[in-house]
Amino acid sequence: MERNQARERWRELAALIRKHDYQYYVLDQPLISDQQYDAYMQELLALEEEYPELRGPDSPSQRVGGEALAAFNPVAHRVPMLSLDNAFDPATLQDFHRRVTRLLGEREVTYVVELKIDGLAVSLQYEEGAFARGATRGDGTVGEDISHNLRTIRSVPLTLKKPVSIEVRGEVFIPRQAFAELNRKRELKGEPLLANPRNAAAGSLRQLDPRVAASRPLDAFLYGTGETPAGIDTHMDLLSYLKELGFKVNPEARLFTRMEDVVDYCLSWRQKRLDLPYEIDGLVVKVNELPLRAMLGTTAKSPRWAVAFKFPAEAGITEVLDIAVNVGRTGAITPLAHLRPIELAGSVVKRASLHNEDYIRDKDIKIGDHVLVHKAGDVIPEVVEVVKDMRTGKERDYAMPSACPSCSVPVKKLPGEAALRCLNPACPHQVLERLIHFASRGAMDIEGLGPAVAEQLLKSGRVQDVADLYFLREEDLLALERKAEKSAANLMAALTKSKARPLSRLLYGLGIRFVGAKTARLLSEHFGTLEAIAAASPGELAAVAEIGPKIAESVHAFFQQDEARVLMEKLSRAGVNLEEVRTGRRGGGEGLGEGLGEGLRDGLGEGGGDGGKGVRGLYGEGLEAPLAEKTFVITGTLPDMSRQEATLLIEDYGGNVTSQVSSKTDFLLAGEKGGSKLDKAAKLGVKIISLEDLRSLIEGGEEGEGS
Ligand code: NAD
Repeated sequence: MERNQARERWRELAALIRKHDYQYYVLDQPLISDQQYDAYMQELLALEEEYPELRGPDSPSQRVGGEALAAFNPVAHRVPMLSLDNAFDPATLQDFHRRVTRLLGEREVTYVVELKIDGLAVSLQYEEGAFARGATRGDGTVGEDISHNLRTIRSVPLTLKKPVSIEVRGEVFIPRQAFAELNRKRELKGEPLLANPRNAAAGSLRQLDPRVAASRPLDAFLYGTGETPAGIDTHMDLLSYLKELGFKVNPEARLFTRMEDVVDYCLSWRQKRLDLPYEIDGLVVKVNELPLRAMLGTTAKSPRWAVAFKFPAEAGITEVLDIAVNVGRTGAITPLAHLRPIELAGSVVKRASLHNEDYIRDKDIKIGDHVLVHKAGDVIPEVVEVVKDMRTGKERDYAMPSACPSCSVPVKKLPGEAALRCLNPACPHQVLERLIHFASRGAMDIEGLGPAVAEQLLKSGRVQDVADLYFLREEDLLALERKAEKSAANLMAALTKSKARPLSRLLYGLGIRFVGAKTARLLSEHFGTLEAIAAASPGELAAVAEIGPKIAESVHAFFQQDEARVLMEKLSRAGVNLEEVRTGRRGGGEGLGEGLGEGLRDGLGEGGGDGGKGVRGLYGEGLEAPLAEKTFVITGTLPDMSRQEATLLIEDYGGNVTSQVSSKTDFLLAGEKGGSKLDKAAKLGVKIISLEDLRSLIEGGEEGEGS
């Protein structure tokens, strides 16, 4: 970047950071996520690295972010309360270690790693063992006197176990569950909801009326002091001393001699943190030896002896570049947001499903909007909300198409559904999606038949439905773009191998609506052959345990189509196995034995039991079941499905259904007249969804992400 451009961008960033500092520290009302804020700051730091003249004393990189409000009495900090440098990856932790060892020369250094509690920093002054005053960090030099509020916190002792005079520092926070409860009460009273536990804690402490703080479930962990008490040489000893005085000290602090172990410990919290009863936004790595800290000193903003390791962003703000629809294999027309690429939870996110028209309308999403996108682990990215504050007036409304973008047939809404559908079974895009699904790991597992090959096969006209795959010759494959002899031969072998897969895999691969892996297994086991399933009446289908009328209707309707009859005839002619392979009944031959082995591995061979877990394996690597690892509870009467059917649907797509709402529940699927489970879910902050939402989750995951 040129100097002038750099200066211009720096100004923009500095203004943005100042604005968001004010929102966050002064008003306790952040408008953007911490990750977005950190991204601005990193960009600013990188510019200052390249053009050091930008780094004036006024730069946000040189100041502790906060500011003291005049409404409170000012408290001067004798030892400044600083911010921390950030490390977002292990390499930056190693850089920190190299810098420390360079500055300390030969001296032996050890590190303490502590949880970085996501709350508000406070300083507590004790005189001869009695609580005298407490303050916020403010701008690091002057904070606000919030003694009246700190006194209300039970974990802040008013009298110490020893009559010492000491300034202790730590973090005030609100535990997760207490936060959810607090918001539930606010919702009942029609009060605005608090954004997150950190802001709730900060907002509670910076109130003039102590009754507000007293009514909030505040808690505190203490981890440091202003001046070091005499006779204490290490941070670990300091923590023990604080405990002896009667302070609440976090139990997860660990001492390490090697940076590799520090890194491992930090990484181990990426997952474990979800089980903590309070939120952390990372870990803090601190030099343990206090005399060495003194040698390392501080910059204007942060100590050189500590660094914060932050977890990869799970949420961030990015722009909706466009909205386009995707046609899934069951014809669902799913709007997709094409996003300016953003790295979240370790992968680049470019798209997010917008589920359906109602979703776009309810969230008021426009093309050109900046949106907060969330992606935790392997979960499908989700647009949480529009950052209305960033609107420029140039955003455009989006209207769903009236005709299918693939085949131009008018789209329809089926009764009781939010999704628009293309009802043309010959729609080219649906056929493509069906081919991809048929070849996927959980279905016929045809290695080498990915989306690109499937598309070429359709274009070449050699394949019109899944059965045509089995009539391909090697020459046909060689005629495709970039198909070398070896890979053509491999694909032929994979196709041949797939012919022996059990019926349940074939049935699942046909992509019938509501027929996921577990339903396919139940039907295959019950009827034994594809022919028997195709001939079964809705009543006979629904007589199978766990199969309800909705699924029965869908299966029956599928096999009533002429196309289905043609398909079955072709599959049979090609020598594809159309019977369920059962131990004892079909034993023997190598191919079959292998097919069965795979079935067992995937959980297909196991009867009943934990369907969720068994089915999960079906999706294999790189093909995540849309509801994998998600736990559901069902309550109330669902609009057009029995609870049993809904359970099966959830399990089919990798989810788990349990009977009681707990902190481990991800979603409460609620129909009409839901009972006490609704209250409990609200209390625990469990997401409450409708049957329609469930369908969107499944279809958004299956169809939305693919193309
Ligand atoms: P920091 O993240 O740089 O870290 C310093 C703070 O960590 C301390 O003041 C203390 O409060 C806390 N802490 C928690 N546990 C600790 C422990 N064990 N040891 C030491 N300190 C511990 O905090 P900062 O300087 O207040 O702010 C910067 C961060 O705040 C940003 O990185 C961003 O994530 C967030 N922020 C967000 C916005 C926004 O608009 N969303 C605006 C400003 C700041």
